[in-house]
Amino acid sequence: MAEIEEEVIDLRSDTVTLPTEEMLEAIRNAKLGDDCFREDPTVNMLEEMAADKMGKEAALLVTSGTQANLVSLMSNTKRGDSVILESESHIYWYEVGGLSAIGGLLPIPVKGHLGVMDPEDVEEAIRPKDIHFPETTLICIENTHNRAGGTVVRPEQIRALKEVAEAHNLRLYMDGARIFNAAVALRVDVREFTRHVDNLMFCLSKGLSCPVGSLVVGSEEFIERARRIRKILGGGMRQAGIIAAPGIIALEKMIDRLEEDHINARFLAEGLAKIDGLRVNLKIVQTNIVHVDVSGLKVTSNQFIDELRRRGLLVLPRDRRKIRMVTHRGIERKHIKKALSIVEEAVEEIKRRRENR
Ligand SMILES: *Cc1c(COP(=O)(O)O)cnc(C)c1O
Repeated sequence: MAEIEEEVIDLRSDTVTLPTEEMLEAIRNAKLGDDCFREDPTVNMLEEMAADKMGKEAALLVTSGTQANLVSLMSNTKRGDSVILESESHIYWYEVGGLSAIGGLLPIPVKGHLGVMDPEDVEEAIRPKDIHFPETTLICIENTHNRAGGTVVRPEQIRALKEVAEAHNLRLYMDGARIFNAAVALRVDVREFTRHVDNLMFCLSKGLSCPVGSLVVGSEEFIERARRIRKILGGGMRQAGIIAAPGIIALEKMIDRLEEDHINARFLAEGLAKIDGLRVNLKIVQTNIVHVDVSGLKVTSNQFIDELRRRGLLVLPRDRRKIRMVTHRGIERKHIKKALSIVEEAVEEIKRRRENR
């Protein structure tokens, strides 16, 4: 007898989102050309839309968020420079050290609070002009901050960092992979976050549900340089309109719905906080990411994750103590309720085993 397959609930990341029917239709109908000759009308249209939305002069479609960050860092600096970034940032943790391995850059990590660096600490980290020092030319921020738990860097905090950057003649760059989550969370126009940075990137492939793609956004001059560096890195694409077409739909239609993910994340977090043995800091649940500390159960995050996986719930570790859950399109209230009951079961099972030992 065939088993009825239970639906797996996937809260590993908002990158698991699949394109909508409308996106697939747009891919099928996209007007295409060779983008290395700047002749793909769909790419050109998406880049114009992205620049306009961010209040900047120009934009460039790239293959991934990691490529967007590397292209941007290299476009803002020269080899041998030092770059100030938050010590838990995606660029520092999850991008294979590309800024050093390929960009020739020295990262100077500064510890932040909920992902936000204190302007005074940043100022302290800037290397003064001295023959011994690598020149510091760039400050990077991340918004929302992934490893901090999807926390928002507020516009006034960005402005304070911009003042430091300006005082020392540095540029300010924003890894805005999930910048629309920040805008939706504060209910402000995304330009409130972009106006104080020189340039930024954002991802189409996360909560916005596109299959591929990120955009680098900034001045004409910066984007011209970025276009050359993208080419060096092998990121020059041909009929990339098939990637840009769903991106246009994402910018038109997929931003406002992020609020639903935030509401679901909050519901999830509040439910988890009530389960004895788990710890959730509700203050940091500001967007679509939930961190849960499972160390009170005397298991590692990976041991806990195995228990969840066996019951049809997929999540990722944040570190040895914490797991990470991310809400996204396709995860509805009923899935959150199911996820909560799976977590509850897993916790009970772990406690039972401990008592019987
Ligand atoms: C996901 C993410 C990236 C990188 O995106 P990829 O497309 O996975 O390379 C960069 N920065 C942040 C903050 C992210 O969350």
